[in-house]
Amino acid sequence: MDKEDNTIESKLSANGKTLLEKRYLLRDAKGKIAEEPNELFRRVAKAIAGVDSTYGYSVDKTEDDFYQVMADLEFLPNSPTLMNAGTELGQLSACFVLPVEDSLKSIFKSLQDMSLIHQSGGGTGFSFSDLRPEGDPVRSTEGVASGPLSFMTIFDKATDVIKQGGRRRGANMGVLRVDHPDIFKFIGAKKKEDMLRNFNLSVGVTDEFMEAVSQDRDYALVNPRTGKVKKRLKARDMFDRIVTCACQTGDPGLLFLDEINRKHPMSAIGTIESTNPCGEVPLLPYESCNLGSINLALMVKEGAIDWQKLKETVDTGVHFLDNVIDANKYPLPEIEQRTKQNRKIGLGVMGFAAMLARLGIAYDCEEGIATAEEVMKFIREEAVQKSVELGEQRGSFPNFHRSTLAKDYPAMRNATVNTVAPTGSLSIIANTTSGIEPMFALTYQRNVMGTRLTEIDPVFEEMARKHGFYSKHLMEEIAETGSLQNILNIPKETRRVFATALEIKPQWHVRMQAAFQKHVDNAVAKTVNLPHEATEEDFREIYMLAYRLKCKGIAAYRYGSKAEQVLEIGGTG
Ligand code: ADP
Repeated sequence: MDKEDNTIESKLSANGKTLLEKRYLLRDAKGKIAEEPNELFRRVAKAIAGVDSTYGYSVDKTEDDFYQVMADLEFLPNSPTLMNAGTELGQLSACFVLPVEDSLKSIFKSLQDMSLIHQSGGGTGFSFSDLRPEGDPVRSTEGVASGPLSFMTIFDKATDVIKQGGRRRGANMGVLRVDHPDIFKFIGAKKKEDMLRNFNLSVGVTDEFMEAVSQDRDYALVNPRTGKVKKRLKARDMFDRIVTCACQTGDPGLLFLDEINRKHPMSAIGTIESTNPCGEVPLLPYESCNLGSINLALMVKEGAIDWQKLKETVDTGVHFLDNVIDANKYPLPEIEQRTKQNRKIGLGVMGFAAMLARLGIAYDCEEGIATAEEVMKFIREEAVQKSVELGEQRGSFPNFHRSTLAKDYPAMRNATVNTVAPTGSLSIIANTTSGIEPMFALTYQRNVMGTRLTEIDPVFEEMARKHGFYSKHLMEEIAETGSLQNILNIPKETRRVFATALEIKPQWHVRMQAAFQKHVDNAVAKTVNLPHEATEEDFREIYMLAYRLKCKGIAAYRYGSKAEQVLEIGGTG
């Protein structure tokens, strides 16, 4: 083992290493692991840094910078980049949106496109709002249409059979506008456990609809094929249905379409109707976006935020993600063309809750919210500046002059720079809390592709040792419930800082999402995690608050409302 390897081995947690081995490290023709973690990071750094030579820059320093931020677990690109950079497949993006027009040809083209994207490790989002409703006439066959839901089932089944080479199951977002006549069926679609398992569902709502809910007015269901009003109904009745289903099953969430399009710098080019699977990237049809996340837990030095280090990591992250656009091998020519016109990237964060804990700040308080805003504002401003610099050196993205950015900046390389991804896998590799979520539990088991991994939150363990209350017995006691709140011999302040997702009031979850959204030009992936006892009223308040606070979407999940969950409380269960 060389020195490089030793450093990485000491940084990776056992779970991080297991995950890399299971799904990321390259294998030979016999299926045997053929690279070490340091070689993975070297492969990725080399493939992505190589792009610099086409712009006349020296590759070596860039490669070393890229390697170092990854090997130090300070920045990681999204999973497809880690898996595929420098390989023949070479598909590097996590996020895609595909169009679905009202014809069999378009529907089945998208189905095929979806299969190629899933096979290469990406996730897909679709708006089904243009499809004529169930029972509507079909002229060519003199039959009747079967409606969006029946087609979604086919997309779902196709997703089941394409398992991304065994590395992960595909994921989709399905959107239907609230004024589509089949909206009732859409809302209740996941009540049956085995239905649309590979979809997250979001109802696309407009300001007009949300205002109609607030003021108890009617709204119209409109046939998208004819433009004719099918019927009028009370907005509140529809909202209640949404809330009831969300409380029972976790779906649907909402997408705030007007807010998304108001903030979209490319609104002159088209209207956004969908996002990628987890909601953090609203995209035009055929656009893709590659993501990367900074590990905020490592941006703390001596109890304070290390702004200089954060700045350098943002610069490296933007440079890296912009290079990914050129290094990428796109699954379809349409996607390559659209993506390269706007060059959207999504630099995000993980380990936010761990950062707060290291700073001694609770998540659910004004100081927690203020810290979120301060950090994300800094990241966005720095990322924009870096993108301007790249724009000056390498040219702005081709649609720059059609974007709203042209009035504020002299040049810009990317139509969007930042996002907040869930970092479901990345946070395990980096051994920190996911995205901007609070700690889920202080000890827990993760269910990753059928393997159960037990974890003690690393920052909690570090703090427990630092403040002298670490003991094996205590950890076992905490493992029973995953929580500190009933262990009274731990100082109250410490208990506050380590409040877990289900102990944090839902309003704080939404406020935190909104605080990040203020300084994010894509969107923010966040799940408002609620205890099992949460009510429909809680869901109603959360969805309304998200709209009022100008979030771009909202998803909430009541613990235990799905048979299969990714995260489970307790180290013993
Ligand atoms: P990771 O940590 O693996 O990089 P995230 O949890 O941050 O990924 O998810 C980011 C995006 O990656 C998702 O919104 C989705 O677009 C895509 N993605 C995540 N998991 C999957 C999956 N199993 N199949 C397809 N796409 C996925």
